[in-house]
Formats: sequence, C-alpha cells, structure tokens
Amino acid sequence: MKAAILTIGNELLSGKTLNTNSQFLSVQLNSLGFEVVKHITIEDDEINIIKTIDELANDVDLIVTTGGLGPTYDDITVASIAKSLECEMIFFENVMKDIKEKFSKYNSKMGQNNISQAYFPMESIILKNRYGTASGMFLKHEKVSVISLPGPPNENIPMFNEFAIPLLQKMGNGKIIIKDIVIFGVGESNVEEILSKEIQTNGNIRIATYIKPRYVIIRLTSKDNSNIEKYSKLILKIFDKNFVGFNDMNLEKNVVELLKKRHLNLSLAESCTGGMISSMIVNIPGSSEILERSIVTYSNKAKVDELNVSTQSLETYGAVSEVVAREMVEGLYNKTKSDICISITGIAGPDGGTKDKPVGLTYIAIKSSKGTVVKKYNFFGDRNTTRHKAALYALNLIRLEFIE
Ligand code: ATP
Repeated sequence: MKAAILTIGNELLSGKTLNTNSQFLSVQLNSLGFEVVKHITIEDDEINIIKTIDELANDVDLIVTTGGLGPTYDDITVASIAKSLECEMIFFENVMKDIKEKFSKYNSKMGQNNISQAYFPMESIILKNRYGTASGMFLKHEKVSVISLPGPPNENIPMFNEFAIPLLQKMGNGKIIIKDIVIFGVGESNVEEILSKEIQTNGNIRIATYIKPRYVIIRLTSKDNSNIEKYSKLILKIFDKNFVGFNDMNLEKNVVELLKKRHLNLSLAESCTGGMISSMIVNIPGSSEILERSIVTYSNKAKVDELNVSTQSLETYGAVSEVVAREMVEGLYNKTKSDICISITGIAGPDGGTKDKPVGLTYIAIKSSKGTVVKKYNFFGDRNTTRHKAALYALNLIRLEFIE
C-alpha cells in the first residue's frame, strides 16, 4: 500500500521549525508495511490543501497529515480535507466534552474558537489527544484513507502510537507485530554490518535499523510473533552487553528499574554534565525511590568542599583526570553511603582543550560495594552533544554494573 505524508504549517516552510514529523512518520509507516512515496510540505492555505489532497487521493492509499488542528483561524486542515473529499462535517459532542474537561482541569477558560476543534467529517474515527486539545482523525474514504494528527511532536507521537497504529494494522492484510530493540554503545553501521545476513535474507520478517539520538533501534516487523521472538532472541545474544530494552526503553528508565528492583540508591557528583544525569533520572516517575542526591561540583573549590578532593591532586593532575574522578567518587561514597556513586569530570568545550587533554576528554567513575572503576572517554561533538554523551555513558556504567 502506498502512503504520502503531508506536513502543513507556515513555520515549516520558513525554516523556523525542523520537520521531524515526516521522518518519524516515514519510519513508522514503512515498518507497518506501507511504501511511503511522497513527502509534501505546504502552508496553511485552504486552496492549497484541497488541491494537494485531490492529487494525492489519486496516487496513494493513505495520506497522513500533521499540523493545522489548532483552534485558530489558520487551522483549517480538517475542514479542507472534508471539502476535498466532499464529506459532511458534523459536531462531535464527545470531543467537545473532552476539550471542556481539559480546560476545567487546568482551571482555564475555554475560548469560543475551541468549538471548531469538535467538528470532523461524519465518518471520522476520532484519535484522542492526551497532551493537548486538538483531537486527530482517521477517515476511511472510498478513494483514500486519511489520518490527521496535530503538529507538535509531543502530541502527535503518542497519538500515532496509541491510536493510529492499531487502525493501520487493520488496514493492511492482517495484524503486523512490531518490536523495537534498543541498543547503546554501537554505531548504526556496525549494527547493520553485524546483522547484514538477517537484514537481507528473510522474507518473513523485516529487520531495519534507525537512529534515535545516541541509540540504535533495531526494528523487527512481522505478521508472525514466533518470527519476532526467534530473531529477537538471536539479536539479544549478539548485542547482549549493548541491549538496553524493548520499544521505548532508554538508559535512565533502565537504570531506575534496575536499582528499584534491587532496593539500591544512587548519588551523583556531576561536573561537566552540570546536573544533566540527575535531571534525566528525575524525569522518570518513581525516581525518588532510588536517587539519594546529586551534587554539581563544577569548580575546584566545590570538589574540595563537597567531596574532599585533595588540592594537591587538583594541582598535580588537573580537575579532568583519572585521579580526581576517583577522589570525587570516593568522597561522595564516604559522604552519602549510597549503594552506587557516580562522579563525572570532563572538558565539554568548545574552549579549554589542550593537546594532552582535548575537548571531549571525560572521566567517569563508579563506586559500589564491588569497588571503584574509573573509565576514560574521548567524546566527539559540540558542547551539548559531549555532555549528553557523558551523561548516557555514566548511566550505561550503572547498567553494566548489573550485567557484568
Ligand atoms: P496547535 O494545537 O498547537 O495549534 P496544530 O495541529 O495546529 O497544533 P501547528 O500549528 O501546525 O499544529 O503546529 C504547532 C507546532 O507544532 C509548531 O509551531 C511546531 O513547533 C510543531 N510542528 C508542526 N509541524 C511540525 C513538524 N512537521 N515537525 C516538527 N514539529 C512540528
């Protein structure tokens, strides 16, 4: 089945917003067995939307649109689609009720213009928006099926995953099962090379790789669950040390789960990451059960005052050194008595690098009842990439503590 992705929004054409929706939807639709043949981006303009839908309806089986579902005068996607496909728009009482409830929950006053968000073509299946007021729609028309999603990724991704995928699975011939294997610490090209035989040779299962920043996702798609299980086992065996989890698992969730299960707690002494690791952990519900404390020891003075790092070590080896990383973690361990302690010190750049200590040089130390281990890394990238990589590798060290 052929599909097209139509992203609607002036801000996409002006370059103010990067069009990540097209990429996300392409990956999803391909793995659901659709052949994505077109990406089109247009402005919020009725004539243009009608013309584009008219044309696409002759070319593809499915059109997925994003954007233009808001309450303002320029949000005209649904009405324009209805005009193009000659569908009658009706008022959906349950959608209105849902919008009203959202406003009252947040103690704010609903505007008159929000009423427009309750009108959809009569035949639509409404896709619930858990994170905003704009519902989406799935419309099965004789010519073409259309899915309309809101523009913001934090609204359309959960809506697509929860409500659109089951409908799309029914659209194809038979249910398609998708399983994502999340891998950390190996590059995508390496993963592809290692799996080249599996990726090429099997007709009953589709194995594809894609990147989520800093992770490689191996996506298995098949109609037969036993195929998914068989290949998932095989892949896990190959990438056992790099396996983070399935589907939307990431390192911070994984670490919180691992520590929670074992009733262990964690303390952090962060220098170059400046609290990034603790922020990632605190994003995970239930993190209070495992996070004892996090100290941002950015300056040398803080390292001495908070962690008892010796001034002599700082002078002799410098703040970014194996010795200081070790003293930081040991100071933290003595202070907190936490089960797992992590310290991190590095040069995030762009300045501050030298020939011996280039930008990206980072030391991460972990201390537990097993002892202290200090690891040295040379991260490549801009300041924030380096800091993010450092945070992830620190979380990865905690993960490895339990599987090695
Ligand atoms: P809203 O209820 O917020 O008005 P909407 O469905 O009307 O939602 P738009 O107004 O088109 O959507 O877009 C809202 C915001 O969503 C944009 O400002 C932009 O930040 C984000 N956005 C829209 N389209 C895309 C896209 N293709 N890729 C990434 N982000 C997008």
